[in-house]
Amino acid sequence: MANPLNGGCRDQMISLSVQAFIDLKSHTLRCQPFEACGILTGPDCNHLQQFIPVTNTAAQPRNHFTLDPAAWTSLLMKKAPVQALYHSHPSSPPLPSIEDLQQLQNFGGLFSSYLIGSPAASNHSGLPEREPDLELELSVYRITHSRHDQAAAGRSLWSLTAAGLLIT
Ligand SMILES: [Zn+2]
Repeated sequence: MANPLNGGCRDQMISLSVQAFIDLKSHTLRCQPFEACGILTGPDCNHLQQFIPVTNTAAQPRNHFTLDPAAWTSLLMKKAPVQALYHSHPSSPPLPSIEDLQQLQNFGGLFSSYLIGSPAASNHSGLPEREPDLELELSVYRITHSRHDQAAAGRSLWSLTAAGLLIT
């Protein structure tokens, strides 16, 4: 399991493999207009190598996500080197919602980074007759842990800090 308290996880750049990006994007577009979700595995918290889609079992999947508990349990049993959690915002920017931050409190310790993707139509200038391709806008965050005294003062234990993304 990734340990976000590990000093090695403080790099501001997180690298994502091209294949993981392609898989994450196609899964996201296939799930539209519902939220897509999944996890990313990799050798350490700075390198995300593989995207594993997980079924979204939320009752209202247009604006909520819940990782299928059976799939999640089986990933944990296989001891997959889980590093990051991904979900999509089908029709809003890839910024954490209040609900996302509340949900993070339940599993912040299981991931070192957090990705949100939003499909966005990109217009090809000069080719107005073409249908716009759907592109994916991706935001990446480090999951950080507040000090216990701050948490005791009513602040969230787990929070998100924007990080940079390098697709390699
Ligand atoms: Zn969200």
